[in-house]
Amino acid sequence: MENYKMYIGGDFVDADSNERYEVINPYNGEAIASVPRGGVRDVDKAVVAARKAFNEGAWSQMSGEERSELLLKAASILKQRMKEYARLESLDSGGTINKTRADAFLAARQLAYFGEQAANYNNEPQEIQGLMRAGRHFHYLIREPIGVCSQIIPWNFPYLMAIWKLGPALATGNTVVLKPASLTPIMAMELAKIFDEIGFPKGVVNIITGPGDSMGEAMTTHPFVDKVAFTGSTSVGRKIMAKASETMKKVTLECGGKAANIIMDDADLDIAIDGSIWASFYHQGQVCEAGTRLMLPAEGHDSFVEKIVEKLNSAKLGNPLDPEVQFGPLISAPQMNSVLDYIKIGKQEGALLKCGGNRALGKELEKGNFVEPTIFVNVSNDMRIAQEEIFGPVLSVINYKNVDQAISMANDSIYGLSAGVWSANTNRAKNVASRLRAGMVWINEWHILSELAPFGGYKQSGNGREFGDVGLNEYTELKTLYVDDAKTRKNKPWYDMVV
Ligand code: NAP
Ligand code: MG
Repeated sequence: MENYKMYIGGDFVDADSNERYEVINPYNGEAIASVPRGGVRDVDKAVVAARKAFNEGAWSQMSGEERSELLLKAASILKQRMKEYARLESLDSGGTINKTRADAFLAARQLAYFGEQAANYNNEPQEIQGLMRAGRHFHYLIREPIGVCSQIIPWNFPYLMAIWKLGPALATGNTVVLKPASLTPIMAMELAKIFDEIGFPKGVVNIITGPGDSMGEAMTTHPFVDKVAFTGSTSVGRKIMAKASETMKKVTLECGGKAANIIMDDADLDIAIDGSIWASFYHQGQVCEAGTRLMLPAEGHDSFVEKIVEKLNSAKLGNPLDPEVQFGPLISAPQMNSVLDYIKIGKQEGALLKCGGNRALGKELEKGNFVEPTIFVNVSNDMRIAQEEIFGPVLSVINYKNVDQAISMANDSIYGLSAGVWSANTNRAKNVASRLRAGMVWINEWHILSELAPFGGYKQSGNGREFGDVGLNEYTELKTLYVDDAKTRKNKPWYDMVV
């Protein structure tokens, strides 16, 4: 069992308090590692180290090409260790090995993308068109790193979220203090080792562990921090925005979702049925952009649901390391209990349980936090199970009378992260997509994201975008540079207003 240390200012250190806690495998409750239980003093040390590194400029003043080289080196190590990291990620997060293999593959590819971006991203002064007037003045636009970035991530995609945060921040020359979710710190700690091994300048990357409420607040209010990037729940996102406002830090947020998945009457049912299961139940439903509100036309509704139920009833729950397993455990007992509470709420609200509904027990599952894949029908869009993020394997099925009604219910949500439409007629689906208030809309697909395509939410699903040049821009300040070319006092008649 590895006893990890925090990574602050280029040193591997214990918490100021010397306290540690154990990291638990959610499949069997066994301790798999330990990490320092940091506190506010550790946040301060990390932020001071990041500030110093930023101000000294070893990273922020480095050329994009040089930063690129180091990031690409890190990416190639991630690629070499893909198998090992997939396994660690499964043990840490309860993700099935098939999911974590995909994550480990994407982590390496995406960090390489951010590395390429670092080299290609234009941080040379850009001439501003219409303002390049010889004998008068020139205007240039310059992108610069924001400074010290606090980055806080959740437990559902711990490895990928660390990459999505570190990649663009480092590509653009910022320095970083990253805190993984308390439940899933392992891959962030592994990344610290890699950055150290490669020789990133001291203090550029700092990785700290411990409780989110106290440490998160310190990361959000510290006067040396310039930006906070957060992925997690909408409730914590709101707190972060409020706290960060005191010092007016830049804030980007990737928060919750309650995506509508609209099946049109002409959808290819073979694909749409499996696609709807994929949309809703991937990673036991612990995915912010999951399609958790399935909207079906009244016609054909019953057989669509029956087929999903049939497939879910034969789903294999078990050890995430077994490649045959489709459903692993939920991340923790509190998360499992919260999901079971929502199932109770759904019943009380009058929704009809079609399958699942209980903690999954049985031989192999007793020690884990397993919940049966669960479907509610007769859900109305104003029920809590249609409005609130459950973050577990629970699908709410809602009937619609016509497409206008489906769209209006889809948009009747505080969230707007993602949505999906299934139809054999792409133009018809595109028309629906254009009316959906969500940052990511899939037609005849779900969950597929590309590092080239901006991702983020409308409404209370967040603020800002990750990926693409748009994502990189979220980590830069814009400086306008005015260069006078007037040369003589006579050419500056406006001075006459005061002198
Ligand atoms: P969470 O409770 O919001 O925690 C997320 C992170 O914030 C953790 O590192 C947590 O630390 C930290 N934190 C907790 N309280 C904080 C505070 N007051 N100030 C600053 N940081 C604080 O969310 P979660 O339960 O880990 O994850 C599930 C949620 O994340 C879901 O609602 C899901 O929708 C959302 N999510 C969104 C996206 C997206 O891209 N939009 C992706 C993944 C997840 P501790 O772990 O120490 O509590
Ligand atoms: Mg939490």
